[in-house]
Amino acid sequence: MPEPVVENRRLCPTRASGAHALIAHWITPDVCLARQRTGFHKCFSCAYRGLSAGAVLPDAPVRVFEPRVEPKRARSRG
Ligand code: SF4
Repeated sequence: MPEPVVENRRLCPTRASGAHALIAHWITPDVCLARQRTGFHKCFSCAYRGLSAGAVLPDAPVRVFEPRVEPKRARSRG
């Protein structure tokens, strides 16, 4: 389920790969930049790493799942 968009807040961390983070919370861009300056251990894989305070992420890519196709079974004659 996609995360809701909250103005002037960042979900920390927001995985660049789109993977779900087990523990995340909302922070302001100022807190984000301060954490990046201090080498916060979750920043290395985050989509916000290196972005300015006013940066907005593009919409997350939509994952398309192919419906599962069940193999056809031979009809039994009986
Ligand atoms: S760049 Fe770092 S501080 Fe900012 S949201 Fe990502 S993990 Fe959190």
